[in-house]
Formats: sequence, C-alpha cells, structure tokens
Amino acid sequence: MIPYSKQHICEDDIAAVVDVLRSTHLTQGAKVTEFEQAIAHHVEAKHAIATNSGTSALHIACLALGVSRGDYVWTSPISFVASSNCALYCGAHVDFVDVEPHSGNMDMEELARKLAQAKLDNCLPKVIIVVHLCGAPCDLAKLAKLAQQYNFKVIEDACHALGASYENSPIGKCDYSDITVFSFHAVKNLTTAEGGMALTQSAELASTMRLLASHGITKDPERFVEQSVGDWYHEQQLLGFNYRMSDIHAALGLSQLNKFGEMQHQRADAVEYYQASLQGICTWLEANDNSTSANHLFVIQVPKEQRKTLFDKLRENNIWVQLHYMNIASQPYYRELGFNNYDYPIANQASDCGISLPVFADINKAEQDKVINIIKENLCS
Ligand SMILES: *Cc1c(COP(=O)(O)O)cnc(C)c1O
Repeated sequence: MIPYSKQHICEDDIAAVVDVLRSTHLTQGAKVTEFEQAIAHHVEAKHAIATNSGTSALHIACLALGVSRGDYVWTSPISFVASSNCALYCGAHVDFVDVEPHSGNMDMEELARKLAQAKLDNCLPKVIIVVHLCGAPCDLAKLAKLAQQYNFKVIEDACHALGASYENSPIGKCDYSDITVFSFHAVKNLTTAEGGMALTQSAELASTMRLLASHGITKDPERFVEQSVGDWYHEQQLLGFNYRMSDIHAALGLSQLNKFGEMQHQRADAVEYYQASLQGICTWLEANDNSTSANHLFVIQVPKEQRKTLFDKLRENNIWVQLHYMNIASQPYYRELGFNNYDYPIANQASDCGISLPVFADINKAEQDKVINIIKENLCS
C-alpha cells in the first residue's frame, strides 16, 4: 500500500526516544525546552510553546488573543476542521472566507470584500486564521495590510508549512501575524507522533500561552502576583489545560529536525516529478510566486465527473489517496450550525475536484510512476 503520507523514522529517532525512556524525566524535563528552542531557531521565531497537538496550540492561540463568547473568527473552508473548531471551543462565531482557485488558500480580494461588508454590519472579526494549504503560504502581506486597516489579529495555521517561506521570511517567524501554529502529527513534514507548537514575537502572548498549556499554573517567582511563602509555592492564574508535550515526543522531534533539510529536499523532488509528469494531464494546487512551499501535500484537480472514478481506481490499486479537504461548511456539525457549503463556490470546486497524491520523504520513482500511470490511463482515455 502506498499511503498519501507517512513518517520517516530511522535508528537515530528510535535511539533518541529510548534515551528519554532510560532517563529520569519522561515529561517536563530538558527535551521539551530544547525542542522549543531548536524549532524557534529554525524558523527565526522569538518564542515557542510546545503542545500535545496542533489543535491544542490553535486553541491556546485563540484564547491568548482574547477570543471569547460573541467574538467573530474567520478562517478558510478548505482546511482540517481544527482550524475552525478552535474558535468554537472559545464560544466564538465562526465564518469562512472563500479560497483562490489556483492555491486553495484564502482569497484576499474576497476577504477585503467581506471585511468591508462586516464593517457596515458591525460584525468585524477579532481574529483571522489563515491556512497555508499543502504548505504553500497565503498572501501574508495583503493580509497584514487588511489586519491593520480593520484591526484584527492573525493566526497562521501552518500545520502544513514547517519549512515554507514567504518573501524570504520563514513561516513561523510571525513577520505578518501574531501567532503561528505547527503540528507534528505523524503525517506532517516533521513528526513527534502527536504534537504541536505555537510561535510568536510577543513575550506577553508567549507567557499567556505557556500558562494556558499547563493548567494556568506558574512556578516562576518573577511572574507571581502574590508573595511566595516557600519553595512549594506556585500560582494558578487563569483557567488552563493540560496541553503539554512530553520529553519522549520532544526527543523524537529533535532527532527529526537533524534530517529535516534532507527530508524537505526529498519532498520537493517528489512534487517536481509529479509536476513534470502530469503537465497537460491535469492541474494541481500551486504556491504563489513570492513564496516557497513546504510541499506537505500535492493535490491534483480533475474534472468533477471524473474524480470519483479516478479516486476509486487509485484505491483499488492500493494507492491510499485522500481528499484535502472536504469543505468544512459541508460537515453535518457545521450544517447544524447553519452553514451552507454553497456559500463558498470556489471551495466547493476544490472539494469536488481534488485528489491528494502520495507525498512523503521516502517515496520512490517506481511508486510515483504507478500513481502517474493510473492517472494518465484514466484521464487520457
Ligand atoms: C493537522 C492539522 C491540524 C491539527 O493538528 P493536530 O496536531 O492533528 O491536532 C490543524 N490544521 C491543519 C491545517 C492540519 O493539517
């Protein structure tokens, strides 16, 4: 079976995890801090807070930006449901902004139109969560301009985009946003099995997110609001969660980071090979010119009438293709909230025509050729 994605694990990853198992701390030891610093260094971010998933990082990012009951949060309908669920956790109203056809990322022209209308209706969003679909960055400069004009905060859901850059600025540095979130789930470009991270340039947001990820408790005397009365003293300052990463997971992440550059080269080669081989046969979601994709996914777009046949044919041949993504607004839970996917026609098109082909560091040409040949047989006959 060729999966759409899979982790790349070698002996050094296994040894790194075993080392932690033999040590005194399975969690809250030195590895988590080391991993936070290593990722922050890699993406040139000031502050990094490791979490137990990308979803929990999105949740504390929303909370740190003050998202609460009655607020509006907008995101992309072509994403994993966590991109919008995180705002619902905070009691906010969610809305979606339709996407660009060529990238599947939030359409900044559509966003501008929607903001102008929301201003008239007095329901401007507090936070906008953009998604760098497939690892290809959104138009962050346009977004940042709108953020200034309409006074909203920006979270980058960069769960696909570790290793990407926008106008030579690494995704994660937060040059155009308040907070950036990564996921280290097993299918992502770098894995800790389960895990995530929130990055920011703001010391204040970082300190709030750190509290939120660990029950709202601090043991740092410099942050106490009352007088410490002994070494046992600690303070719960807000209502937080247990969203911490363990040292076992962090050790795996650190070990993965050693070969991340090489893994990213392999991904880029795989995507280039698909592009060269499928030229003229179908189209695919593409990065904009001013950015470099992390090549997390390769999503082809085929005529709607041919999608199911091709998808089934690939699956019959043990090629475990997927769809990234079904329009979130089409999910039963979101329909129940009153959403209608027909309000987002371009997102629907991406949903109706997409197939995610296998892309991962270890994929070889023979596997890719098998995928390519089935596509050619089906689309060219
Ligand atoms: C994977 C993913 C998430 C959630 O990450 P988890 O670590 O699985 O919680 C959120 N958004 C997007 C776009 C993702 O791909």
